[in-house]
Order: sequence, then C-alpha cells, then structure tokens
Amino acid sequence: MSDCLFCKIVAGKIPSTKVYEDEFVYAFLDIAPQAPFHAVIIPKEHIGSADEITAQNSILIAKVFEAVAKIAKSENLEKGYRVVNNCGEDGGQTVHHIHFHLLARRNLAWPPG
Ligand code: 5GP
Ligand code: ZN
Repeated sequence: MSDCLFCKIVAGKIPSTKVYEDEFVYAFLDIAPQAPFHAVIIPKEHIGSADEITAQNSILIAKVFEAVAKIAKSENLEKGYRVVNNCGEDGGQTVHHIHFHLLARRNLAWPPG
C-alpha cells in the first residue's frame, strides 16, 4: 500500500534501523522504545491488522514468529521478552500494517494495563 508507513519502511523510502530481514519479514527498532530493547516485526506484505489474518496469509504470521526466535538468539534475550500485537482502536493500534512489538531487557509488568 503506497500510503502505508510500514510499507514505506520495507521499501526503504523511510529510514529505519534494521534488526532482522528475510524474504517475508522485516524487523527494525521502534522510534519510541518502551523497553531497553524494542523492535517492531512486520510481514513485508501488507496486512492491515490481526483482524485481516486468513488461511491464505497466516503463513506470514508464522514467519514473524520464526523471526522472533532468531532475533531473541541474536540479541541474547535469554532472560525473556514479550511479544505484543495491538489491534484496532481499543487495542491501541496506531499504524495499520500488522506488527508485533518485541520488548525486552527490563522486567515487564503483568497485566499490562
Ligand atoms: P502501534 O501503536 O500501532 O501498536 O505501534 C506502532 C509503533 O510504531 C509505535 O511503537 C511507534 O513508536 C512506532 N513507529 C511509528 N512511526 C515510526 C517510524 O517512523 N519509525 C519507527 N522505527 N517506528 C515508528
Ligand atoms: Zn503496509
């Protein structure tokens, strides 16, 4: 989608600090980190939100979680981490290209509030 911020980041039209990339997935540091390590992991193909996951595109979500495990190893997140998806207005989603926050290197409160 030409007017999507994260599609522009994937295309390199908006600069980002890359954490991981493969054929299906791109991951970069969040511009407003909520933890000492805060990456955003996205499928390269545009999916608007978790609401738009289907049997046809769910393989891309599996690829995102394969990337989570790889990043956790490369970043030495052996103490643990949290993966968050915000969906829709009440979920606090502000960018409408599905993404998963990978938060680490501090003790994360539960419930998150
Ligand atoms: P959401 O609130 O939709 O779950 O998450 C969107 C995330 O994208 C936020 O954590 C926000 O800080 C991050 N973000 C928004 N614009 C940019 C940007 O231009 N570059 C980067 N690296 N992160 C961004
Ligand atoms: Zn997009």
